[in-house]
Amino acid sequence: MERTLSIIKPDGVARGIIGEVIKRLEINNLKIVAMKMLKMDTALAQGFYAVHKERPFFDSLTDFMTSGPVVVMVLEGENAITKYREIMGATDYREAAEGTIRKDFATDIEKNVVHGSDSPETAAFEISYFFNRFELIV
Ligand code: ATP
Ligand code: MG
Repeated sequence: MERTLSIIKPDGVARGIIGEVIKRLEINNLKIVAMKMLKMDTALAQGFYAVHKERPFFDSLTDFMTSGPVVVMVLEGENAITKYREIMGATDYREAAEGTIRKDFATDIEKNVVHGSDSPETAAFEISYFFNRFELIV
């Protein structure tokens, strides 16, 4: 069993597709073991995306991530990290496979509806960034 962090980004929340995203997680046997809605401030978003701080899109990305509420979840399942990234699709929705969340709903390389951890190390950092041990279902 593996755990990964999922975020429904501000564009996904604003467009009313929280339910659609969660349905796709559940039909793919990714179990939600923690969940909350919150609105990030700049410091929280910059800390979360610190690995990208030298990238040209960093300021735009952190502005976008603070532009409205997000839904943050911890997903559990077999190969959850890879499996969830497959369900999300490629970062650039134009390159995403048919039937993925980003292919179906993203409108922009930045406004791509969902986030998912990309490795076990990243998942551990990202889960503890948003949830304490009392908020994680064991
Ligand atoms: P995420 O980390 O959100 O799950 P990802 O791992 O597919 O997405 P990253 O390379 O980690 O992609 O980029 C983080 C986020 O930064 C992307 O999801 C997207 O919102 C934004 N982003 C990435 N590349 C670009 C770009 N070239 N221009 C604008 N925004 C970008
Ligand atoms: Mg990433």
